[in-house]
Amino acid sequence: MKNISRRSFVNKFSIGVGSAAVISTIPSFMVPLNESPLLYYGKKLNVAICGLGNYAEAIANGLQSTQYCSLSGIVTGTLSKAQAWKTKYNIPEKNIYNYTNFDDIINNKNIDLVYITLPNGMHKEFTIRAAKAGKHVITEKPMATSPQDCREMIKACNDASVQLAVGYRLHYEPTHLEIKRLGQDKVFGQVRYIEAALGYKTYDMTKPAQSVDFSGHAEWRLNQKLSGGGPLMDLGIYCIQASRYVLGEEPVAVTAQFGHVNDAKRFAQVEESISWQMHFPSGAMASCNTSVGFNADRFYASADEGSFELSPALSFGPFKGKTSNGEINFPVINQQQTQLDGICSVILENKPLPKHITGEEGLKDLTIIAAIYEAAQTGHNIII
Ligand code: NAD
Repeated sequence: MKNISRRSFVNKFSIGVGSAAVISTIPSFMVPLNESPLLYYGKKLNVAICGLGNYAEAIANGLQSTQYCSLSGIVTGTLSKAQAWKTKYNIPEKNIYNYTNFDDIINNKNIDLVYITLPNGMHKEFTIRAAKAGKHVITEKPMATSPQDCREMIKACNDASVQLAVGYRLHYEPTHLEIKRLGQDKVFGQVRYIEAALGYKTYDMTKPAQSVDFSGHAEWRLNQKLSGGGPLMDLGIYCIQASRYVLGEEPVAVTAQFGHVNDAKRFAQVEESISWQMHFPSGAMASCNTSVGFNADRFYASADEGSFELSPALSFGPFKGKTSNGEINFPVINQQQTQLDGICSVILENKPLPKHITGEEGLKDLTIIAAIYEAAQTGHNIII
């Protein structure tokens, strides 16, 4: 596999139609606006993006083609970014905030929702501040850095009567909806065994991390306080998610092992690689790996009467796969646009969001992640 950086993955996602697949039921958020049966015809939610790094660019790109929301505001601590985004996306000055005056957004009727793309350790603070300002929230994955923080975020949003979603883009992606169907509908019988791996070779291990600044922005993923952990938080969460939604079950026990450390200075606070095994009530097990020391992007499920697999599987795609009966081949979509329209169409309808993308779902993942870290640290089988 080529050494594909996170940034080039972000740049590679595309809009458009790939080959050969037919989606039998078209979700309402995929219906063109002028054909939409929905009552809120023509209304869009105004979104402010909070934290203008790499992934914020992907969200802004998705917002250029959304039907049910548009990019209306930004929150940033960097003046030059504020200027650049203002010009590029035509954002009115009154919709630009910094981290200090962010709470004034309570008075801005032109912002309905805050999309948080800050480092993981900042999701909680900004979710709670946005909720207190009466704004709906989408926060990026992982939802926070601990289960307790997730609970506080859920409470704050409930107290403020705003909706809280986690940026689980794959719940709106047709290939992933298909593997979810294959697994949960037992198309090949009961799934017994899953292998899932997501890794990006992010660092040049031949160059020692002489200048790692653990409090600096560039390396926040190496900083325990800002990241909550290493690749398990960032990438492994996709393996957890896919295993859970393919099986339609929650793991009851985990075992885990930290991997080899190539660079002890760089990985002084968080893991470089980790392997873990999840055991499910049906007896199914998932064996998962994640790393920033190697590239991997694969999902495989073995069921009683067949199997299905994807590779690429969990990144930005385009996804490719097969079952024991043939190819899995769905159109390439803009994952961020589809996710944003999916979430915002429901909020516009004033309906509760589907459970699988809410704060409760984020809390489930963080609970599993905490158990995986405990298992790796203690060497014990941890019951969830
Ligand atoms: P990034 O480093 O590119 O961006 C982080 C932004 O936060 C930067 O603009 C930075 O200036 C700002 N920031 C504010 N205070 C900071 C501080 N104290 N330290 C560091 N940065 C600070 O990171 P990213 O890759 O855009 O990731 C941001 C979030 O998005 C993370 O939670 C990550 O897990 C998530 N993400 C999700 C996906 C996905 O596919 N859903 C993909 C990439 C990232």
